[in-house]
Amino acid sequence: RDSSSNTTNVSDDDLRLDDLLPSGFDAKSCLSRIQSTSYRKKSPFPPSPHLISKLRSYEARHKRCGPGTKSYKAASLNLKSKSGSGSGSWFGSGECKYIVWIAYSGLGNRILTIASAFLYALLTDRVLLVEHGSKSDLADLFCEPFPGTSWLLPDKFPVRTKFDKLGHASPECFGHMLKHKAFDNATSDPAFVYVDLVHDYNDHDKKFFCDEDHALVKNVEWLVVRSDNYFVPSLFLMATFREELFRMFPAKVTVFHHLGRYLFHPTNQVWGLVTRFYDAYLAGADERIGIQVRTFYNGPGPFQFVMEQIQACIQQETLIPDVANDVKLVPKSRKTKAVLVTSLIGDYSEKLKARYWLNPTSSGEVIGVHQPSHEGFQLTDQSLVHNRKAWAEMYLLSLMDRLVTSAWSTFGYVAQGLGGLRPLILYKSDNMTVPRPPCGRGMSMEPCFHAPPFYDCRLRRGADTGAMDEHVRHCEDVSWGLKVV
Ligand code: GDP
Repeated sequence: RDSSSNTTNVSDDDLRLDDLLPSGFDAKSCLSRIQSTSYRKKSPFPPSPHLISKLRSYEARHKRCGPGTKSYKAASLNLKSKSGSGSGSWFGSGECKYIVWIAYSGLGNRILTIASAFLYALLTDRVLLVEHGSKSDLADLFCEPFPGTSWLLPDKFPVRTKFDKLGHASPECFGHMLKHKAFDNATSDPAFVYVDLVHDYNDHDKKFFCDEDHALVKNVEWLVVRSDNYFVPSLFLMATFREELFRMFPAKVTVFHHLGRYLFHPTNQVWGLVTRFYDAYLAGADERIGIQVRTFYNGPGPFQFVMEQIQACIQQETLIPDVANDVKLVPKSRKTKAVLVTSLIGDYSEKLKARYWLNPTSSGEVIGVHQPSHEGFQLTDQSLVHNRKAWAEMYLLSLMDRLVTSAWSTFGYVAQGLGGLRPLILYKSDNMTVPRPPCGRGMSMEPCFHAPPFYDCRLRRGADTGAMDEHVRHCEDVSWGLKVV
């Protein structure tokens, strides 16, 4: 497929995803931004005019407040003096407020938490800056999303060296401050507030999602957040944001779909991995099926029951016709299906490949099975190339017509959200046998928040947050999780 020629046939509106994306970028520096439309179907959910206007005003704010600007220099100077000598104003000049995202956990988690932090920035008129570690360098994976500025936290950011040590017990931690009533005591204000939303956060940290407690950070100039969770569903449960979220996303299930397509554009390096694989193995097929295999059992596998589960799901959903017993009865067909398998190990795709090579299908359709890599182990903080492959594979999965994902996996959530696909989820087994049913259709394409609070903020007592709102429900794959439906 000649993707460059395709870009001349599509309208500027299409290229900019119905105005979701801003103009003003140099096309060559980020080819995926202009070429993605020739690989992926147009979204059936046009972004709302309100979302588009929020994004345009966000871009203007980021340009006004981002690294290198007078406002940024003033705010970081204020942070520096406050964290050093205790002088300076906690609330700053109020002109620009920031949320700094700290990298944590696997790449799928990172993508989901950046999207969550960005949504929070949109809702609270903040500017999002991302900390980019050395080996999982975000700049190596993603193009700059905002024109004429940068979202990367400058190397000389005043309190950067403190990031590693931040935790529940840090004096800057929101939950810790709440517990010790530090917000009431103006003399002990820290230079910034650290919001800990890591899965094992405590009950005080969780009150970040309570309107009244959350209001305490409204004017704080610098928020620093660390999370491994897609915390968007809990924002939907807050009166502060609910109405605005409904205006931005009339189709509620499109939050990650739109924000993901807006924020995450593979760099040219990664785009090469995506397009070369797609063009070589997937482009020519009549139908493309993605199967993402991620296991959270003891050891890396392979597990025989997982292989059987994949096969049972294929059969249950007739993703691929059964193999034929009698070759003479197989009609001649030139139709092809391409199956893209992603997994840390190669065994599952090898078995599928052999099955559909050694046997014809009952419809005569020819099945090609392809797996880009089998990296063996997760190496998020150790290898740039490893992360490029992971990102390229999430993106490739998002280009498929139908998608099978694995329960619990943020890797799969990213693919389904970007692709706008309601996935078939391979359920997690409780006893290392094939679950019945082996897979089921997700309620929405939204990711699951694995560690939501179970708390009624108004009544100040424990409550089932999955039963409070018709648009926020427990997830299919993680029963205590929450997702927007
Ligand atoms: P999760 O653990 O499934 O929620 O997904 P994450 O992306 O957060 O972390 C898993 C990490 O393991 C990925 O980022 C990759 O580094 C690696 N990984 C897991 N599955 C695959 C796969 O199918 N392909 C590749 N290339 N890497 C994978």
